[in-house]
Amino acid sequence: MRLILLGAPGAGKGTVAKQLTAIDGSVQISTGDILRAAVKGGTELGKQAKAYIDKGDLVPDDITIPMILDRLKEDDCKSGWLLDGFPRNKNQAVKLHEALKKENMKLDIVIEMELDRQIAKNRIMGRRLCVNDNNHPNNVYIDAIKPDGDKCRVCGGELSKRDDDQDEAAIDKRHNIYYDDKEGTLAAAYYFRDIADQEGIRYITLDGKAGVEEVADQLVKKLEA
Ligand code: AMP
Repeated sequence: MRLILLGAPGAGKGTVAKQLTAIDGSVQISTGDILRAAVKGGTELGKQAKAYIDKGDLVPDDITIPMILDRLKEDDCKSGWLLDGFPRNKNQAVKLHEALKKENMKLDIVIEMELDRQIAKNRIMGRRLCVNDNNHPNNVYIDAIKPDGDKCRVCGGELSKRDDDQDEAAIDKRHNIYYDDKEGTLAAAYYFRDIADQEGIRYITLDGKAGVEEVADQLVKKLEA
């Protein structure tokens, strides 16, 4: 399955991505994770990306677009992939669509997780990262995934906060980008929604307000429909 998962920072994309990859074994490609790993590793890409990430700005398209298109050519992507965090603007959506067409690759599903902006902001400030696995869900403001004291609720690992999750100005900027339906991420979502019928792409919306299990239920039902 080739799938794009879209949702505001805080909407629960990571959790849904994990459920989806568990269902069909496709590889999860998170631009945020790739960029953060590059920053941590001190690579050239990381050095270029850090200032943008810290401020909540998008890393420029001339870095992220080739980075993702190259990643999709790797062997582990042959049996399907799930894009988490890409596209982030309309230009990235158009370039991805063109590249897939050129390679004769059909996009199967686009999922949009809908969530009110204020709820998304609260959730971001509450989320915690597990040292053992970024996808272990932990959020001090969501009962279903509250950490176990100050440790990961899944594996007991140490938890940390992302710098860009605690800076309100950076969060607001990230949300301005997401909720921009002219050029930003919602514009990318609507680009695919508008061509979905003619290209045979399934466009699915999920209610991100719901709890983790409810979202999982919605997802399974909509995939089976
Ligand atoms: P995320 O983990 O998806 O919230 O991404 C964290 C940060 O990485 C974003 O605020 C951006 O600075 C950067 N980033 C992630 N995905 C992209 C993308 N597709 N294009 C540009 N920048 C990105």
